[in-house]
Amino acid sequence: MPRYRKLYYGVHIGRKTCLCNFTGACIIDKNHFMRLLFIGLLCCSTASGQAIFSGKDSSVIKIINDLPASEPFDTAHSYRKVNSPYVYIISDKDLYDIFGWPIPVKYEDFNFSDYHILGTLECKQCMLYCHHDEGQTNCHCNRCNKGWVWTMRDNKKAFTEIPVTIMPGHIGNKLLSKHHSFIGDTIIKATPDNSMTQWYVTGHGDCMAHFNYSLFTDKYHPVLLLQERNYWGGCRAGGSRDYTISFIMSPGILYHTKNTILMRKSEY
Ligand SMILES: [Zn+2]
Ligand SMILES: [Zn+2]
Repeated sequence: MPRYRKLYYGVHIGRKTCLCNFTGACIIDKNHFMRLLFIGLLCCSTASGQAIFSGKDSSVIKIINDLPASEPFDTAHSYRKVNSPYVYIISDKDLYDIFGWPIPVKYEDFNFSDYHILGTLECKQCMLYCHHDEGQTNCHCNRCNKGWVWTMRDNKKAFTEIPVTIMPGHIGNKLLSKHHSFIGDTIIKATPDNSMTQWYVTGHGDCMAHFNYSLFTDKYHPVLLLQERNYWGGCRAGGSRDYTISFIMSPGILYHTKNTILMRKSEY
């Protein structure tokens, strides 16, 4: 993985540039320089063996630079706002839904069966050069500038599949039957004894569509990802189906996302 090495070097360069901040200025005199070089070497030796990114995310293949760094992502739907610091792109449907035309055309050959794209809202310089997770306070000289950073990640290294039980209908939720405004959204609620968590989903497709679900946690971020496979049923009329997905909630989860993959009928 040559790209990995290149980024790893970036960390070392970052460690040296970061030191200019400790003096309060970016100009270093000779005495300072030797002392800082020594500290720098200590820093670097403890840093070696650490993962490239602040999140120690070993699933990252590379940073993608040609996706928007700020919202709106889809200029044709500029009112759309992302309500999470994480945006997962696991299929070409996500590309269309999030960015609109013409970005998906550029990613026609992206191998979604092995990789995905994760968007995170953060300072790109911090992501590349800082170690804030290890308590580093000063890093790069200029101010932090938050924007959307897109990374290509390895599916197998990024996700852990969680066992689920899938039942048709929205089972055991009185709130849902009372509030019919709940259409196509998802709600997570623990059972009274807190042992199981329920994710209520509605799949939208044609009247003969099939749906299947897989649930994953991200190994590096506090996110639960529900993958919905929507199998085309070959019917002209629209249709939707409700399901209840039961699982044991992993500790520390802060966000959840449901991503739909459109499947051909023959793939069912
Ligand atoms: Zn930083
Ligand atoms: Zn920063």
